[in-house]
Amino acid sequence: MMQLFLPLNFLGFVYREIRGALANIERMFSLLDKHPMIVDSPQALDFQPSKGELSFEQVSFSYDERPILRDVSFKVAAGKKVAVVGDSGAGKSTLIKLLFRFYDVDQGAIKIDGQDIRHLTQDALRRAIAIVPQDTVLFNDSLVENIRYGRPSASDEEVRNAIKLAHLEQFIDSLAQGWDTKVGERGLKLSGGEKQRVAIARAILKGSPVLVFDEATSSLDSRSEQAILSALREVAKGHTSLVVAHRLSTIVDADQIVVLSQGEIVEQGNHQTLLLANGLYAKLWRIQNEQQHAHLSS
Ligand code: ADP
Ligand code: MG
Repeated sequence: MMQLFLPLNFLGFVYREIRGALANIERMFSLLDKHPMIVDSPQALDFQPSKGELSFEQVSFSYDERPILRDVSFKVAAGKKVAVVGDSGAGKSTLIKLLFRFYDVDQGAIKIDGQDIRHLTQDALRRAIAIVPQDTVLFNDSLVENIRYGRPSASDEEVRNAIKLAHLEQFIDSLAQGWDTKVGERGLKLSGGEKQRVAIARAILKGSPVLVFDEATSSLDSRSEQAILSALREVAKGHTSLVVAHRLSTIVDADQIVVLSQGEIVEQGNHQTLLLANGLYAKLWRIQNEQQHAHLSS
């Protein structure tokens, strides 16, 4: 009996741990990735960024001994949208993890409204940034509770508004139990695109000045992609946004596009100037267009 009891009890512990951690959805990164504990310094500021201007200043970073980012510098002015593109493994998600301080940079600095993020409390930093991760985890609860996680104190009215802006309204209306439908492992399974829209609704509710979007790599049908695109445009209004994109069609309208290759910035500009420059971005753009045409005519 004891033998059975112990593992079950342990499982219960793990379950509560995971659930507790999900209370702050961004901490998922830290569950999935082992990282040294980052501790607030005693002088850490509980600063409230207002404009949400970001700057990466000569940032270098290695995982153990392996260099991942080298001398990366770019700014996201308040209210603007900057996209980061590049091959898989280029270091895009690592940039986001550094911004969220799952690791500290080895050299250089990341600043928000001019403050080095190492000088802020982690709570202050995580309040300032809403993140739509590459893979959103939904827990076994109703759809509405999954959305409300963005800000548990949000009113029904605010939740409804977020659902609308995230283009989830039609989807929810099509469910017999509406927003009370249970989702997750033991409930309704959502498609990748629907999950990302749930994460967008959470981010809208959270209302942080900075929005970070790490686009899912999984393929989306074009209707789902369009819904995500317009949802993102809604959220980007009045927010500073940093978008990691795989489909370049997502970021044609970005104010600035940063092209990463093996951890270094090789080009920076908007869509038009990068096409004219005829470098790596133009090449990626041509490849994606050819793939799309091949797909359409097959
Ligand atoms: P991208 O998002 O551009 O595809 P990532 O930033 O996820 O790239 O990864 C950049 C490189 O860092 C990859 O080679 C990846 O294998 C490596 N990497 C990512 N996370 C870790 C980690 N926690 N420990 C060691 N190496 C990692
Ligand atoms: Mg990535």
